[in-house]
Amino acid sequence: MTEDVKMGAVSDVEDSAAVLLKDVGYLVTFDDDQRELKDVDVLLTNGVVAGIGDSVVPPPGAEVVDARGLLVLPGLVNAHQHLYQVGFRSFPELERVDMGGWLAGLHGRTLSAWRSNHFTPESVGLVAKAGMVESVLSGVTTIADQHYVFPGGQSDSYLESMIAAAMDVGVRFHAGRGSMTLGRTHGGSVPDEVCQEMSDVLNHAQQLIEDHHDSDPLARIRIDLAPCGLHVDRPEMFEEFVALADANPGVGLHTHAYQEYDTSFCLEKYDATPWQMLGELGWQRRGVWLAHMVDVPHSEIQQYAAAGVGIVHVPAPDLRLGWGLAPVRAYLEAGCILGFGTTGSASNDGCNQLGDVRLAALAHRTTGRDPERWPSVRELLQLATRGSADCLNRPLLGRLAVGSAADIAAWSLDSIDRVGVHDPVAGLVLTGISDRCELVVVGGKIVVRDGRCITVDETELARQARATMTDQT
Ligand SMILES: [Zn+2]
Repeated sequence: MTEDVKMGAVSDVEDSAAVLLKDVGYLVTFDDDQRELKDVDVLLTNGVVAGIGDSVVPPPGAEVVDARGLLVLPGLVNAHQHLYQVGFRSFPELERVDMGGWLAGLHGRTLSAWRSNHFTPESVGLVAKAGMVESVLSGVTTIADQHYVFPGGQSDSYLESMIAAAMDVGVRFHAGRGSMTLGRTHGGSVPDEVCQEMSDVLNHAQQLIEDHHDSDPLARIRIDLAPCGLHVDRPEMFEEFVALADANPGVGLHTHAYQEYDTSFCLEKYDATPWQMLGELGWQRRGVWLAHMVDVPHSEIQQYAAAGVGIVHVPAPDLRLGWGLAPVRAYLEAGCILGFGTTGSASNDGCNQLGDVRLAALAHRTTGRDPERWPSVRELLQLATRGSADCLNRPLLGRLAVGSAADIAAWSLDSIDRVGVHDPVAGLVLTGISDRCELVVVGGKIVVRDGRCITVDETELARQARATMTDQT
């Protein structure tokens, strides 16, 4: 077994936050060598992985966790989420609608909630917090959120509330300052009342960066710039965000692309594909990641890889809204940076990233008869960990090696639905009912223990979050 323990570096460190996972039943690293190890120790100190090997000696005061019955992965990274939508799940009239109906229905519901004082920074923070806890229970340790709804055009403190919630829960958080700047009056696809002036967006984005952005490679909080899409934003918004990102290291750029609606919109309004438009606006570059990417022209795929943009596979909403599946095999073959996400709960309707990996593993089998071209369980889990981290330009996340972030997710190998499983990795994804983690650690701090979130009171949080939505059902 490989020994890469730097004992000299850790043996004399007095760190009460140190955690030793002792005798891990099965470890999937997604490191550069794609190592999978049995009966191995993993030492987490000072927020990073300090050692992986046999018989690791923990520093004094370390918590030792008996990990014999656990399957341990790098924490999952959700590269596309809209947490405010946790308050907007499963409306009966939106169960079976296309994108046009969904957009209209969701924004109608959002404005109604806002007018009745149910869409406030406090309520959004509470439902987002519930979504964060749901996320970590399915193994997510980093969430990249895109918040683009500012009813009345006011830059209220929705993102600030979500950042505070992320700190409470202990999940790593990318707060994407979104925008909608092209209302119906000006040819866009959404009501003017949910749109903002570009100057207001930029002022608020600048303030968020000054107050909350951390460019450290192990940052818990980062700010990204994330216009909702070419069908709801002015082209100039994309250009302004590039300039702001360039002035602030570590600030990423994120948007939706190729979700049918924006494709037809761009062709009609600009006589260009979304990718061509993004190129004109300076978005064909590293540090950009694009969600959905479903109805792409296959002739463009090599350009995505060459430009170094990240692509986020978001199968649940793509299926729910009837678009079909993104060409994952073609992206992999082209060498694209490819991650995974859930999107928001108005079109998912959950935050269960592991469950969505299962959905993808099965759904892609309908796209062709050659089993070799179906994404494997390991390929999909790699998208949901290392691939998403690469989209976010976070090379210390999504893999487990000495020096990488101490973010792990662990599931039981012994639950009732794992009886008879011969490959624990395939069993994790394909068996079914045990998505809920036994243990989750973020930055070396335990967030989920024995299947329960220990940083917040899950039951009380659910009660409070439900109460904010009382009049919305
Ligand atoms: Zn989305």
